[in-house]
Amino acid sequence: MVFNCRSCGADLYLDDHVVSKSGKRIPLEEETGQPHNCPEREQSDYRSQPFECNKCGISLFVSSTHKSKNNKFIPLEYPQGHPHDCPKAEVK
Ligand SMILES: [Zn+2]
Ligand SMILES: [Zn+2]
Repeated sequence: MVFNCRSCGADLYLDDHVVSKSGKRIPLEEETGQPHNCPEREQSDYRSQPFECNKCGISLFVSSTHKSKNNKFIPLEYPQGHPHDCPKAEVK
């Protein structure tokens, strides 16, 4: 079954064998068969699951609304959303 991405209109389909860690089917692009990494959706407010800072262990997340100039995610402290200034980061 082909359907259109609600965000960008691309032709997508679902494959029962291609599922995410949470068991949900991942939309694939009809043209390429690759998982659809929606260009439109990324611009809407994306928030990652919390993860731990590998230096100080505090809970962090990343959001599409907080990216650095070179388009990299800036780690934010969970759940307040302040940019994480890690106390354990190496001093250069
Ligand atoms: Zn899309
Ligand atoms: Zn840290």
